[in-house]
Amino acid sequence: MTGGLTGQADLHCHTTASDGTLTPEQAVVRARELGLVALAITDHDVTEGVGPARTAAGRGGPEIVPGVEINAWADGTEVHVLGYYLDVDDAGLQTVLYRLRRDREERLLAMLRRLQALGMTLDPERVRAIAGEGSVGRPHVARALVERGHVASVEEAFGRLLTPGRPAYVPRHRLSPREAIAAIRRAGGVAVLAHPGLTGRDDLIPRLVGEGLQGLEVCHPQHTPRAQARYLELARRWGLVATGGSDSHGPDGPGAQRVDIGALTVDGAVVTALKRLAKGGPT
Ligand SMILES: [Zn+2]
Ligand SMILES: [Zn+2]
Repeated sequence: MTGGLTGQADLHCHTTASDGTLTPEQAVVRARELGLVALAITDHDVTEGVGPARTAAGRGGPEIVPGVEINAWADGTEVHVLGYYLDVDDAGLQTVLYRLRRDREERLLAMLRRLQALGMTLDPERVRAIAGEGSVGRPHVARALVERGHVASVEEAFGRLLTPGRPAYVPRHRLSPREAIAAIRRAGGVAVLAHPGLTGRDDLIPRLVGEGLQGLEVCHPQHTPRAQARYLELARRWGLVATGGSDSHGPDGPGAQRVDIGALTVDGAVVTALKRLAKGGPT
């Protein structure tokens, strides 16, 4: 592709605005150290990391791609939809994200009630403090459980208590992928299905394309080379932009998310393709 951004881009990372361990400023510094030409800030259900990242990047780069990763549900399966180059000031988008975060707060209190019934009392204020500026979630509950000595590790907290089928697990409010895609596109963004290899529901892809999906996250640290080849083929078949990124939650993130920024990158031409689509180009 001519006129594309030259270099490598990481199009998926989380900061302290959600459940990442690096601040947006630290993420930018890391991306700059690695010589990335672009970094997308894709926090869960929140865009507050984008502004500070842009300020930190300044004119020195990398280019900050405004993004978000929205948690949605389809037929009982959790589906993550990435949004790129959206207007973070769009009122409709922020209303959807605000509702998701409010529901997450209600979910926190429900989880704490369940833990209390198991004899594991946690102070919600402490869990929120661990979450800091980010939207509170299971990783923060897990860390609070470790802190109080109720479990030995974050992994144990997830494995014994906080995953589906375990006694303190509470499902989240279920936004549909259609609603997530619509919110992203109404805000001028490009809607991309995150890590389809983790979701394991390739049968949903045609439906999501019909609902306005424009891209597929082909490159992800937890995709095998075989899965990556398959999703590249599916992206071609459905006319979707093939994206990718590290899905880094910081070098100290939980479990499989302990991945550094830039651990997986895509060509800068992908950034150019996303920018064109966000400007209303053909899908
Ligand atoms: Zn995800
Ligand atoms: Zn992610």
